[in-house]
Amino acid sequence: MKIPFVDLKSQYHSIKEEVDRAILEVVGNTAFVGGQTVKSFEDAFAQYAGTTHAVGCANGTDAIEIALKAMGIAPGDEVIVPACTWISTAESVSAIGAVPVFADVLPELYTIDPEDIERKVTPKTKAIIPVHLYGLPAEMDEVMAVANKHGLMVMEDCAQAHGATYKGKKIGTFGQAASFSFYPGKNLGAYGDAGGMITNDDGIAETMRIICDHGQKGKHNHLIEGRNSRLDGIQAAVLKVKLNYIEQWTEARNANARYYNERLANSGLVIPVIPDYSRHVFHLYVIQVENREQIMSLLNEKGIACGIHYPTPLPYLKAYEKFGHQSGDFPVSYGQKDKILSLPMFPELTKEQTDYVCEALIGVAVS
Ligand SMILES: *Cc1c(COP(=O)(O)O)cnc(C)c1O
Repeated sequence: MKIPFVDLKSQYHSIKEEVDRAILEVVGNTAFVGGQTVKSFEDAFAQYAGTTHAVGCANGTDAIEIALKAMGIAPGDEVIVPACTWISTAESVSAIGAVPVFADVLPELYTIDPEDIERKVTPKTKAIIPVHLYGLPAEMDEVMAVANKHGLMVMEDCAQAHGATYKGKKIGTFGQAASFSFYPGKNLGAYGDAGGMITNDDGIAETMRIICDHGQKGKHNHLIEGRNSRLDGIQAAVLKVKLNYIEQWTEARNANARYYNERLANSGLVIPVIPDYSRHVFHLYVIQVENREQIMSLLNEKGIACGIHYPTPLPYLKAYEKFGHQSGDFPVSYGQKDKILSLPMFPELTKEQTDYVCEALIGVAVS
């Protein structure tokens, strides 16, 4: 049996007519960049996210950078980010001339460790970027407590967590602003690159829009130097259609994750924790194993795709060599890096496929 890591094809086929029609409508109207479709998706997404504003942009990396800029983060400022995340979280801090400062993550939850955030605060610290990694909300009560104590801003990286909630509150609504990625493989994915930002602050929202459109407020009225980071009409049309299915797809991801957890409960493997106060949205289903290489080659032989998210915590990448971090600086991230393994996870995954993965795994995994 062949089991892909994600199955974008079967999802496309399930909504083909609707999505094809929406794309053709944009082509017919030649509203390729900006316009009514983008506005209508932004309004629908703001409503879904529970904020007054949503601003579309070119991708989820730009979204972080533009949100930070709109919040007033400037060159030389320090921004605390988790050691375990996709590089965009730190990259976008550096892109505006600010300095990413890493904090370790929590064992088995994989999200930023609030106590380590506090240890990393200096007089230059301006903001924290919690990442709701794999779809699990960061420990936001503790993160906000550190932020409030030290007068720091918070920009949530929600690229992997569309629709997740923490203690009944939607992620992305805790701090000043939040960023989303709509990369095709994300829980809400476009058919190309796309991203967005949300905020309840009118001033931040306006600055976001100005930055995205060459610093213009109205045609040819350039208040600042901005950039070109716009959401295009075709992507917005696809996203608008898919937004109607996100809840149903998230429920399917959760059902698949619960079934995996049930099947692997007595395997001795480290399986994902689902805190009862959070709604996890399972962008990724990540376990920990001792003999990862052996397992990966066996799963590969059986036609099961799997992945590692991410093989090297950011402080240990060549890109951040200049900080001179040692293995002991981020003991949890370092200790988990050779054990984490992501199994196939997508809404359309069947019980039969999940059983096949679990059986292959149970036979060989060492915990
Ligand atoms: C995917 C991702 C991003 C970046 O999104 P792009 O749209 O690919 O630029 C940022 N942060 C995290 C945690 C991500 O997973």
